[in-house]
Amino acid sequence: MSGIWIYSEDSAVAKQLLTAGQELKKTMQQPVNVITLNAENVQSLTTAGADKVFLLKGNSIWPESYAGAIAELLSKEQASVVLVGATMRGKDLAAKIAAILKTGLVSDALTVQYANDAIETTRLVYGGLAVRTEASALPALITIPPRTFPETSAAAVQCEIVTVEAANQDSRVTVSNVCPIVREGADIATANKIVCVGRGLAKQEDVKMAEELAAAVGGEIGCTRGISEDYHWLPSDRYIGISGQKVKPELYIGMGISGQVQHVVGIRDSKIIVVIDTNEKAPIFEAADYGIVGDLYEVVPLLTAALEKK
Ligand SMILES: Cc1cc2nc3c(=O)[nH]c(=O)nc-3n(C[C@H](O)[C@H](O)[C@H](O)COP(=O)(O)OP(=O)(O)OC[C@H]3O[C@@H](n4cnc5c(N)ncnc54)[C@H](O)[C@@H]3O)c2cc1C
Repeated sequence: MSGIWIYSEDSAVAKQLLTAGQELKKTMQQPVNVITLNAENVQSLTTAGADKVFLLKGNSIWPESYAGAIAELLSKEQASVVLVGATMRGKDLAAKIAAILKTGLVSDALTVQYANDAIETTRLVYGGLAVRTEASALPALITIPPRTFPETSAAAVQCEIVTVEAANQDSRVTVSNVCPIVREGADIATANKIVCVGRGLAKQEDVKMAEELAAAVGGEIGCTRGISEDYHWLPSDRYIGISGQKVKPELYIGMGISGQVQHVVGIRDSKIIVVIDTNEKAPIFEAADYGIVGDLYEVVPLLTAALEKK
């Protein structure tokens, strides 16, 4: 077996996976190869520390339809490890590749290392209550969520570009229509400051109060799942947690949020966590750097006014 292979349709995610790939390279002593479907990404990937960049050329614009072609390439090159970005498309693609190659698939790994001739991964299980360590025999196929690793800072090495005609494309599914999601505001996954609302908010109109605080700190608005999925007060791309967005802002301000683990796993990489809740025993205080025990309807307007004055 030879080679640590990386794929994501998002070149920023591919460069994050390269960080993990380069760590594996140190212990496995195998080259790191990147697969891309987009000719425009080739140049930047060649300078990101990859040993080879494989450009798969085909007719389809849907990455998922390249599962057969990618599996064929991995099989021919006898890949040892395949790291796929756990984007929506990446998850779909990885599952198809695993089925074709008849390998296992570890999804949403947070760490990856080579030990005892296997790939050892950790990932959250039971809704984030436990961390499971798993060992996968080679070849190992693993998906890794975006932003789990920083983008690679490795120096460029001599990188070969290989163009492969993707003959084996799946044409059983055709796309009849595409409706892009209209996003309001910025992507909270990359926001630097987030004001997050939970079910401590009594009514939809009160989201405005949180938006005013967000405007005062120059941040974006986020929420817990119930606010989005049950109440429909904010769009689903705004909710944070294990089944929503994972965020890494410099500043997270949460209000009226109890701090259940399913939410906290999505915010724990925030640099500073400030929370406001009436219940001093709410678990959110355990995750917080600064906690205010109080009624958000009193605290938030005072905080906003003070910040606006500054
Ligand atoms: C499989 C699974 C996946 C899930 N995924 C997610 C996920 O990705 N993201 C997510 O967020 N949740 C998720 N959940 C739901 C999660 O378990 C919690 O139910 C949810 O996070 C709780 O939301 P909350 O904190 O807004 O509400 P609550 O738990 O109801 O908390 C409300 C808080 O507001 C406080 N409060 C009330 N009034 C005021 C006031 N006037 N001023 C200040 N504080 C006040 C209360 O003291 C309380 O702490 C998931 C659940 C499951 C089972």
